[in-house]
Amino acid sequence: MATNGTHTNGDSHTTNGLKPKPRIVIVGGSLGGLFAGTALKSHGFDTILLERNPENLLHNQGAGIVAGGDTIEFFKRYDRTGKPVAVPSYKRVYLNQKGDVIHEEVNRQNMTSWDLSYYLLRANYDRIDSEYLEGGKLPEVRDTDGEVKYCAGATVTNIEDKGGQVLVSYLQRGLDGKEESTTILADLVVAADGPSSSIRKLLEPKTERTYAGYVVIRGTVPEQEGSPESLEVFRERFCFFHAPGIQNLTYTIAGHNGTTEPGQRLLNFVWYANFPADSNELDTLMTDISGRRRHITIPPGQIAPEAWNMVKKMGYDRLPPQMAEMAAKTTAPFVQCITDVIASKNLWMGDKVVLIGDALAGFRPHTVASTSQAAFDAMSLAEWLDGTIDRKQFVKQTMQFAREIQAMGVRIGDRSQFETLPVDEYIADRNFASIKRQDRVYGKWTEDGLDKI
Ligand SMILES: Cc1cc2nc3c(=O)[nH]c(=O)nc-3n(C[C@H](O)[C@H](O)[C@H](O)COP(=O)(O)OP(=O)(O)OC[C@H]3O[C@@H](n4cnc5c(N)ncnc54)[C@H](O)[C@@H]3O)c2cc1C
Repeated sequence: MATNGTHTNGDSHTTNGLKPKPRIVIVGGSLGGLFAGTALKSHGFDTILLERNPENLLHNQGAGIVAGGDTIEFFKRYDRTGKPVAVPSYKRVYLNQKGDVIHEEVNRQNMTSWDLSYYLLRANYDRIDSEYLEGGKLPEVRDTDGEVKYCAGATVTNIEDKGGQVLVSYLQRGLDGKEESTTILADLVVAADGPSSSIRKLLEPKTERTYAGYVVIRGTVPEQEGSPESLEVFRERFCFFHAPGIQNLTYTIAGHNGTTEPGQRLLNFVWYANFPADSNELDTLMTDISGRRRHITIPPGQIAPEAWNMVKKMGYDRLPPQMAEMAAKTTAPFVQCITDVIASKNLWMGDKVVLIGDALAGFRPHTVASTSQAAFDAMSLAEWLDGTIDRKQFVKQTMQFAREIQAMGVRIGDRSQFETLPVDEYIADRNFASIKRQDRVYGKWTEDGLDKI
């Protein structure tokens, strides 16, 4: 059927010929979109996932992520591969600039990696096999599963309220690289298109993603390449360092193809450094190897040598030796500007569009809660569609979490980067950020206006 001269993929449909099922379109195929797709599939809902990246698999982001409570809970509920997703860390240690341990506490935390989580989710969503499944298995197919379709090279450009449904417009890239304008009608659109969400921009153009005044420099080093001094503080530990304008944390994550075998893992560093907006240093850092000034991210391998030399020198001058060693030994560092963004609400167009994960609220990484937010939003959405919770509960739990954690990230991030405090206060902030969602007391303000959503 043709719509406005473009190709249309049809109307609302029934899958079993008896019972109408909603057509759910997910925008974005990173962790947030895959959490939603996997949960909805398991609850019997059909989904079509549109991801703008033209390749069938997203690139390894080369990064460790802290697997918060809801990330672990998600895999407990929905993973059918049986592959362990996380490497535990048992202690937090704090270093001084000489590299001595100045504080140590027992605190179990689970570390995973972006790529392991991604491949396990792809296995669960559309049964993509990969070496990451070694020690696990391709998930069983259940009669009750919803149907899934993953569309690579599909960039959503517009959504339009058509009363009972939403018309989603997108550019579909073909094998020849040409893009065709396409539309699809959806009963529900799940926007999981990240912190720069195009769907959020269409719905709420005044909400902007703003630069927080500092960046995070990240990279990994194979465990075997770490010096004994480094391994002593980084292995199965979450290791921190604070100085004015600097925070560095380094920890062990899964290695190649997700292996959690000791000796085969990676040491992952996360180094926050102040680079004022409009400064020459920020321009130097964010101008990539080809001379292009990037706005938010310089991907692995794209940092210009001049910029990387500047960063390494900063490392030698200001970091403990074990952390400077990581900067010296990493081969594919990358940089991200730290930003802030939050939507005013998550349900739009009469509940036919829902924002989840970073599209709803882009947290500062100090919260270690972004992946967990995406997992929690996806689990909550499945519960709402399944009737386990009602709409009011869905809005309350997802919006209060988004508001509280986004504001906390700004507060502790600014304290860490722009104030000079005794180390005890940084420790207290970090412990506060680690409180489990279930045990967290939300500010009364987080309820403001929720009844009007
Ligand atoms: C390097 C790195 C390290 C991180 N470390 C941590 C950590 O330690 N702890 C933590 O909790 N979280 C961490 N995160 C964040 C975490 O990965 C994300 O919060 C999580 O993946 C949820 O993000 P998302 O899927 O909502 O958005 P994103 O990951 O931004 O994905 C959005 C997806 O939407 C696609 N897309 C965008 N626009 C369109 C469009 N118009 N049409 C179609 N597709 C579109 C993009 O291509 C992308 O695949 C990290 C992220 C990165 C990149």
